[in-house]
Amino acid sequence: MQNIDVLITNATILTMDQSNTIVGDAMDEVGFLAIENGSISDIGSMKDCHYNSDNTIDANNNIILPGFINTHSHLIAALGRGMGDESFVNVSGKAMDRFPNRLRQFMNEETCYISSKLALYEMQLSGVTTTVDSQIALKGKEGNFNGTIDALHESRIRAVLMRSSVNKTDFFEQQYHDDILTARNETERLLRLLPSPLIELGIEAMALHRLEQPLLKELIQIAQDNDLMFGMHLAYSQDAARDPLERFGKTLLEFLDELGAFNSEFIGYHPVWLNEKEIEIAKNKNIGFAYCPVDNMLIGTGTANLHTLEKSKIGLGLDQPNDSHNFFELMKYAILAQRTIPKNFDYGNPLLALQLGTIKGARAIHKENLIGSLEKGKAADFIILDQKSSLLHPITGMISNIVLAGSPALVNDVFINGEQIIKDKKHLKWNEADIIQDINRIMKHHIKVDFQKSFEINK
Ligand SMILES: [Zn+2]
Repeated sequence: MQNIDVLITNATILTMDQSNTIVGDAMDEVGFLAIENGSISDIGSMKDCHYNSDNTIDANNNIILPGFINTHSHLIAALGRGMGDESFVNVSGKAMDRFPNRLRQFMNEETCYISSKLALYEMQLSGVTTTVDSQIALKGKEGNFNGTIDALHESRIRAVLMRSSVNKTDFFEQQYHDDILTARNETERLLRLLPSPLIELGIEAMALHRLEQPLLKELIQIAQDNDLMFGMHLAYSQDAARDPLERFGKTLLEFLDELGAFNSEFIGYHPVWLNEKEIEIAKNKNIGFAYCPVDNMLIGTGTANLHTLEKSKIGLGLDQPNDSHNFFELMKYAILAQRTIPKNFDYGNPLLALQLGTIKGARAIHKENLIGSLEKGKAADFIILDQKSSLLHPITGMISNIVLAGSPALVNDVFINGEQIIKDKKHLKWNEADIIQDINRIMKHHIKVDFQKSFEINK
């Protein structure tokens, strides 16, 4: 018997590996997961388990899955919940009032911390173990990132925090716009500030029409110089897709390719309005996509066609949902939304949805060697689902049940890098009542709520 850090016994394990191996079948055969130094050191059938551990957890025939990978979020927008439900997006940005200007202005280190905490708390209870987060950099408000990093660190989530640059927008006043010198200095400061290897920094050019060319080129260079992921919101509306064609005579991905944007690991959010040339570029370059069906439907900008993107690296993003950070809802709509596209009505199935949420998501963010499936040598990021829930019965269609009937209520336990974060449906790092108290205290200062007339933001 070999002694190890953590041993999980008696589980049905959906590994999500290349052959979709399932260890155990929830009826009689069951499996184990051995964890050493935050990684999976062994996995197999209970009859081959020759380990013991002071930290042994009997999974009681429950289902183990890799943790979900959220390829796109906006943590600091969580406080905007319930504001601007009627918004839609166009290229001018004028219609995008979902996160009203005044609310944006009261974001500071403390509000960014509280907003991130709210979003991360819900994500983790929903089984998310990795998120790629996009946060707008406001000049003079650099402390905002300190608040977000504190929340990320406390939650122990695995994250890439994208510093999102904007210098051509009416989202907020000129004084807050980013510039080349600030971008360089802030990248250095944030790299020094990162408190653990679980949190990485990424560089983002928010969207083509929100940036002047010199800053865009510099950001591409900064990402390369520092070997950081580079991200961008793609053409999430038809207006946005036309913009580079009209200005430069090229599609967005052609334009970015010429600038060298894909020399870094690239993640593009909302691959909704791509043409055939761009789909071809994506197949051959270092490009990952974040498909965000729930948010795209919310703002009415169309749905990415998964069928045409199946050869690309693509995962799922919660983006900025106005309801919650429910990853089960995201997986379900990821395939249901496909069936609303003409000629796509029979495309996709629950297994595809689960792959998008795990291994395909890992590929989209260029981390398939580390996360996304449960295999020897990969990080011990996994979740345990409550097999006793009626939602998972009858068990004949286990994957269907998880995707089509599942909800965060199924998530019993969450482990990230071998550390338990959720235990018996309770967050071990944070208390829900404290989070609500913080939100109420902050919002009381800034928002006058009148449930008849919605809300007003205090001057
Ligand atoms: Zn976004």
